[in-house]
Amino acid sequence: MGISHTMVFLVVDDSKISRKWLIEMIPKKILEHSTLIEGNNGQEAIDLYKEHRPDIVFLDITMPVIDGFEALLEIKKINPEALVVMVSADRQKSTQEKVLSLGASAIIAKPINEEEFRSTLLKLVF
Ligand SMILES: [Mg+2]
Repeated sequence: MGISHTMVFLVVDDSKISRKWLIEMIPKKILEHSTLIEGNNGQEAIDLYKEHRPDIVFLDITMPVIDGFEALLEIKKINPEALVVMVSADRQKSTQEKVLSLGASAIIAKPINEEEFRSTLLKLVF
């Protein structure tokens, strides 16, 4: 997938400011060629995934309606190849292992470290 491809990002977090901070981490060169979709909870994550088939999903874990674990599971049912990156303040090893076993491609800690974020993104997408 080259940089000229129009990327579709789905960013789901119940905190608007967390979504904003994450979006600011995406390199401008990539954002210029991208479509950004935002959601507020796990149910929206699933619905927006079905509707837009984003190239990459950033998913908070603790969210109302449906949490990130369940949304991850449902998205992977829709598309086993889906690229889903979990974003969470929960740094427990058990959480990390759980999301990876459910099919997440990576987990990034909150507050997001820019270098970690960019290296994860580049590794997964380019
Ligand atoms: Mg949350």
